[in-house]
Amino acid sequence: MQYKSNYSRWTTLRLAINFIALLLILFAYQRLSHKAPAQAEGVNPSLGFAEGEFRELNKNYFNNTLPFPTITWFYNPNERAETEQTANGYVIKLNPAYNKTETQMAMDIYHEACHIKTYQDMIEDPNLLFENQHGPHWQSCMKDLAKRNAFALIW
Ligand SMILES: [Zn+2]
Repeated sequence: MQYKSNYSRWTTLRLAINFIALLLILFAYQRLSHKAPAQAEGVNPSLGFAEGEFRELNKNYFNNTLPFPTITWFYNPNERAETEQTANGYVIKLNPAYNKTETQMAMDIYHEACHIKTYQDMIEDPNLLFENQHGPHWQSCMKDLAKRNAFALIW
């Protein structure tokens, strides 16, 4: 009975120490993994930032093969961002309500860059015209960026 009681006390102490250690690890992990956005909430990064992101992405992951788009704000309550193909090239439109931080804006630029990549590839493969806009071709563009660590500082 005495032995059992000591054992139980030791086990309880050990469990408590393990629990505290686990809490410390989780707390440290969360502090490491949830950094504050580069831009304060409520203040939109500039369109110049978006252009810089596109330029870097194009250079580092597309060998500068994507035509440089016009990037503008737009105020469609139903859309976060969109890419329009025009006679003069591409226009990326960003909704300021969903582009409050540099991280969000970079995600939208990468997303829309893959639409431009898909539009460009349609010229060579008309079958892509019949694919959903977020279909396999666009998906593989995003997955390729992820595999090459393009999102390392974003997600
Ligand atoms: Zn899309």
